[in-house]
Amino acid sequence: MKFGKPLGAIGAVAALAMSLSACAGNPAGGDPGTGGKVIIGIKFDQPGLGLKVGDNYEGFDVEVARYVAKDLGYTEVEFKESPSAQRETLLQSDQVKMIFATYSITDDRKKKVSFAGPYFIAGQDLLVSASNTDITGPETLNGKKLCSVVGSTSAKKIKDTIANQVQLQEYDTYSKCVEALASGSIDAVTTDNVILAGFAAQSQYSGKLKVVGKPFSTERYGVGIKQGDTKLCTAINAALEKMVADGSWKKALDATVGPSGFTPDAATNPPKADAC
Ligand code: GLU
Repeated sequence: MKFGKPLGAIGAVAALAMSLSACAGNPAGGDPGTGGKVIIGIKFDQPGLGLKVGDNYEGFDVEVARYVAKDLGYTEVEFKESPSAQRETLLQSDQVKMIFATYSITDDRKKKVSFAGPYFIAGQDLLVSASNTDITGPETLNGKKLCSVVGSTSAKKIKDTIANQVQLQEYDTYSKCVEALASGSIDAVTTDNVILAGFAAQSQYSGKLKVVGKPFSTERYGVGIKQGDTKLCTAINAALEKMVADGSWKKALDATVGPSGFTPDAATNPPKADAC
């Protein structure tokens, strides 16, 4: 009893300190420079960009993520699948610290999250069967069955522009759209050209699919982070600049996107990061 009061006071202080650090701490990773593990969101089904193969991960987004994580001092990376429609929620709920997942920077998304980068510029395009001759651009989609992904800029663009002319089927991943195209149940898939080229080059679709090749939007791939985390944004932008300067950006792109035969727009790539 004699020590009850002082011990109680120390206990209360310790409990307060612990709860404060729990509040400040992000379970998906600490601030840049503090080391430890970081949880990063990527796509698991986009060949050339973010693809899970067994226990491994490959693609340009994966390579950029690994470079940035290392430059920021993290010692371990855990990848978490981040489908298009779940990205903002995954960041807001601290399930991932950063997202590298063909994630276009948009004003709408900036209402919920922030972005570092961009680190790549793509454009929305169409994927059709290799034998198709009548779909040559978005203006030729009248009456066609089109597939895209929930929560993507690709689906939004169709809804905002030509929704009354097409039947839009939305899945949660592009791989499901491409399967539907290959089986003949839809006429075209729409999303970014670099994503479509990766699918068209997959061995199971070899010779069966083609990218139309007339991009009709500008998609600036950013690194999604928690809204307002300027410190993290600044550190990521420095890492991205370094990745371009030391040749790693080009090397990673050639090794991952290169095999699909896709040629990135040299006038816009590699892009300069926006101010944080
Ligand atoms: N870049 C577009 C977007 O962020 C389409 C690709 C995707 O859904 O990841 O919505």
